Amino acid sequence: MAALVNVKGLRKSFGDLNILNGIDLEVKAGEVVSIIGPSGSGKTTILRCINLLERPDGGRIEVDGQVLCQDGPDGRIRFASKGEIRKIREEVGMVFQRFNLFPHMTALENVMEAPMAVKGMDKASAKARALELLDSVGLSHRADHYPLQMSGGQQQRVAIARALAMEPRVMLFDEVTSAVDPELAGEILLVMKRLAEEGMTMIVVTHEMGFAADVADRVLFIDHGRVVEEGTAPQVLGAPREERTRAFLKAVLERAPMAEEDGDDDLVDDRDIGEPSWGADPLTAGTSSDTDTIARLQSEVEELRRRLAQSESPSGGDG
Ligand code: ADP
Ligand code: MG
Repeated sequence: MAALVNVKGLRKSFGDLNILNGIDLEVKAGEVVSIIGPSGSGKTTILRCINLLERPDGGRIEVDGQVLCQDGPDGRIRFASKGEIRKIREEVGMVFQRFNLFPHMTALENVMEAPMAVKGMDKASAKARALELLDSVGLSHRADHYPLQMSGGQQQRVAIARALAMEPRVMLFDEVTSAVDPELAGEILLVMKRLAEEGMTMIVVTHEMGFAADVADRVLFIDHGRVVEEGTAPQVLGAPREERTRAFLKAVLERAPMAEEDGDDDLVDDRDIGEPSWGADPLTAGTSSDTDTIARLQSEVEELRRRLAQSESPSGGDG
């Protein structure tokens, strides 16, 4: 089957700095691919190039059979027409590291905005769809709240609903849990895991190794704008071939909270401004399957630590 997202030889520099040095990335429909790597390695730039928020200097990007850019016969990169790029962008949903909801709009208005403004959807239909989507991320009871009245975890769930409102073919997630309190990461990861289970094609830049291990079909480790290692989640995360991958994973896993330290109660807890009751929130109310899922994501981290330690060749060994 043809890849839904096909990136070949992607190059990008900022001034004199080569940030992406020939990235290849293929994602088939329904696949979840996680990109991991140190800060500054180029992960965000890859995602931003995929919907041309950033202009690549070279290489080829194809989304859903449409070529966004490719090198011409003279070696210079050529871009699709503005109209084609706009069309492809509508198929690519993106959720950023920092909450980027419109602050002057309620959760509901944030989710309704793009379908009305970009797709010309009528207000009643946009509202009905937005309410469905807010419900699917566990936030129908927050529809009339403004971003500042919501926790970071809730804002990111609204941001996911907002991206989904455009009915994208593929979703790009850029470290969407990294700016929220650690105990609120779980509720965002639950929404993403459900989305993956429903068959959404996803590219997920993340430091949440439990999530990558549990949900990703494939993992790419990026360093200095190159793919250092690529494979299934158990291979790359549990038994990395490259020393650089191993060193990175060790550092990240050491920072990850231990399952014992964080009770389930903390993880399904949420904070709100001026409103103490959480009974109505299906996600934060914590059904037993949700707490199971979060516990599983945590135990994946434990398991990865164990496997990584095991796979380490004993130093000084001569065999
Ligand atoms: P990551 O997401 O892996 O942390 P980024 O893709 O954000 O990495 O950035 C990779 C490198 O590119 C960093 O050194 C960053 O400072 C640089 N960079 C990113 N965006 C810009 C920009 N708009 N102008 C100049 N340098 C940039
Ligand atoms: Mg980044």
